[in-house]
Amino acid sequence: MSIRIRLTLWYVSLLGIVLILFSAAFFGVLKYSLTTEVDRTLQERAQQVALGIQAQNSLDSILSVGGVTLPELDVFSSRSIFIQIRDTKGQVIKKSSNLLNFTLPLNQVIFTSIQQEQPHLKTFPIGDVELRLYSVPIRLGNRLIGMVQVGQPLNEIQMTLQRVLFFLIGGTIAALVLVAFLGMFLARITLRPIERITMTAHQIVSAQDLSRRLPVAGTNDELDRLSQTMNSMFARLDNFFRAQTRLSADISHELRTPLTIVRGNLDLLGSGMLGEADRADTIGAARSALDRMSRLVSDLLLLSQADAGLTLKMNMLELDGVILDVYQQAQALSNGVKLKLGRADQSQVYGDEDRLKQLLINLIDNAIKHTPPGGSVTLSIHREDEYVLVSVADTGEGIKPEDLSHIFDRFYRVKGQKRKGSGLGLAIAKWIAQAHNGDLSVESEPGVGSAFILKLPISN
Ligand code: ADP
Repeated sequence: MSIRIRLTLWYVSLLGIVLILFSAAFFGVLKYSLTTEVDRTLQERAQQVALGIQAQNSLDSILSVGGVTLPELDVFSSRSIFIQIRDTKGQVIKKSSNLLNFTLPLNQVIFTSIQQEQPHLKTFPIGDVELRLYSVPIRLGNRLIGMVQVGQPLNEIQMTLQRVLFFLIGGTIAALVLVAFLGMFLARITLRPIERITMTAHQIVSAQDLSRRLPVAGTNDELDRLSQTMNSMFARLDNFFRAQTRLSADISHELRTPLTIVRGNLDLLGSGMLGEADRADTIGAARSALDRMSRLVSDLLLLSQADAGLTLKMNMLELDGVILDVYQQAQALSNGVKLKLGRADQSQVYGDEDRLKQLLINLIDNAIKHTPPGGSVTLSIHREDEYVLVSVADTGEGIKPEDLSHIFDRFYRVKGQKRKGSGLGLAIAKWIAQAHNGDLSVESEPGVGSAFILKLPISN
């Protein structure tokens, strides 16, 4: 079932429930007040007639005259109010002229109730009509002299109630039909942007053109946010696919040169035309090309393991001890560059010792390679709040701002450099830092030097 129909059904059902409850309450209250109004009128009229009789007679006059003087009942009656007076035996002694030959009913219950001097109110079905009948005793002094009966047919009230009921039911149905149409229309208008988003997304996916984006109206509503989220998903997918394509191109490119060298040198060796010294050089060149390939392959392997979620061997480490080890190992690489130890705040981190050493050696190796002889590379540790910052700062050639933002990308190498690396070292270093819930950043000024800063959370 489509959302449009579901929304419409919701509107209609909710409105239906509200209207039915409202109509039921309204009808109930109306019926109650109309009936009480009738009862009140009947009681009033009966009261007036009884008072009239009491005013015109006294116990003595009745005893002396032997009869009761009765008031003119038509004064109290009206088109729909009938009045009748009965004596104590139940005989009708006077009635309003609108009753014609009809008599208001009397049964045993009413009779007994009047004998006990209790008023009585009851609805009688008479033919198709219901009659509301109020009977009240007439007393003179402390003697019961008869009863007044006042009746009103309920057909007018019933007709009014029927008309109201018809109006409520008809109104409810009409309102529901109207709301169903309006709801469908509103739901269509509301959902139209979603259809547009779906269509555009479908076009993007089917045309495999991930550089296209969904339109964002700028209203910052839910649909705009959906478009923005989907756009950032497309952007990520686009980057991902581009990176994949670039990665395969880069890998083939990187492997081609050493493979050509190995192959050329093997051909040379196979030709048997080389002297002893040339043979050794050729073998050496092939070996270093193979070394480069195997370094590249192991770097790639590590990165793909990292992507697949390689787990680290985490232990509690004294970071200054780790730095000291790295410092000593790196002495062998120094190549005329002075390797110095700066501030070394004590701190414990939770980490993989081998990976952290690999990261730092990589940074020091880069720093040494990009620093001319006579320059220096300083290793230091600073504590800063919850973190410890390990910096590898050199006084080398520095990195241009346009290269700085790409330095951690896979296969990114600064152009025009004599020294050819794979461009994977810093990508690996960054991954190791992030896998420790830390980060690796760089600050650099061309001609002055660079500082790579490893930020790790302190563990106590
Ligand atoms: P590579 O294996 O090619 O050195 P990296 O990822 O380690 O790859 O480094 C990427 C680029 O960053 C290199 O091409 C290099 O030019 C530059 N770079 C790295 N470290 C430094 C540094 N300390 N000073 C100047 N440039 C650096």
